[in-house]
Amino acid sequence: MNIIFLGAPGAGKGTQAEKVSEKLAIPTISTGNIIRAALKNGTEMGLKAKEYTESGRLVPDDIVIGIIKERLSEDDCKGGFILDGFPRTIPQAQALDEMGIAIDKVIDIEVSDDAIVRRMSGRRVCAKCGSSYHLEFNKPKVDGVCDSCGGELVQRKDDAAETVLERLKVYHSETEPLKDFYKSKGKLSIVEGQENIADTTSLTFKALED
Ligand code: ADP
Ligand code: ZN
Repeated sequence: MNIIFLGAPGAGKGTQAEKVSEKLAIPTISTGNIIRAALKNGTEMGLKAKEYTESGRLVPDDIVIGIIKERLSEDDCKGGFILDGFPRTIPQAQALDEMGIAIDKVIDIEVSDDAIVRRMSGRRVCAKCGSSYHLEFNKPKVDGVCDSCGGELVQRKDDAAETVLERLKVYHSETEPLKDFYKSKGKLSIVEGQENIADTTSLTFKALED
C-alpha cells in the first residue's frame, strides 16, 4: 500500500506515519528528515535547503521532487511506502502522478492552529536519529535522552514560535489545497488529531481499513 500523510506542521503526522510503518512493515519516507540529515552532513543539497527550512519556508519543488524520485527508486519501496511531509504543494503531487506512482490512501491529520502552536513549543527531537518527543504528551523515559538510541533531545530551530506561525501560513496557502486534490480522486480520509497519541493512532488505523 502507498500512503500519504497530510497535515499541518506539528499535527503529529510523522508519529502516526511511524505507527503505520511498523504495523504494515513498509518504510516511512520523511522529506523533513532527509533534508535535516543533509543539513547536518553539510551536503550541497543541505546547503541549498538551509535558508528555507530555518525560516519556515518550503524548499523549492525541484529539490524535494529530486529527493523523492531517488528515494522511491530504492528496493525497500517496492512493497509499498508511507510519505510523511511530501507532497506539500500541488506541483509535488503532480510530480508523483508523472512518475507513475499510484497512491492508495491519503490520511489528513486535522489539528487546529491554536493547538499546534501550543504543541510545537514542547516538541523535542533526537539529534542523532530524528525520533520525536514532547515535554508533556510524549515524554522520553529519561529527560533529554532518546529512548531508541540514547541521543540528545533538542528543539528544532524551526520550532521557534515565530517560525511556527510562518510554517502554518505556508501550510494553509500551499499544502491545504492538496486536500481537495486528493478528495476529488476519492483518496482522502480525515482523522481528527486527538490530545492522546494512541487515540489518534486508533483513528488512523480505522481510516486505513475503510
Ligand atoms: P513539519 O511537518 O513538522 O513541518 P518536516 O520535518 O516535515 O516538518 O519539514 C521541515 C521543513 O523541511 C519544512 O518546513 C520545509 O522547509 C522542508 N520540507 C520538508 N518537506 C518538504 C516538501 N515536501 N516541500 C518543501 N519543503 C519541505
Ligand atoms: Zn535517537
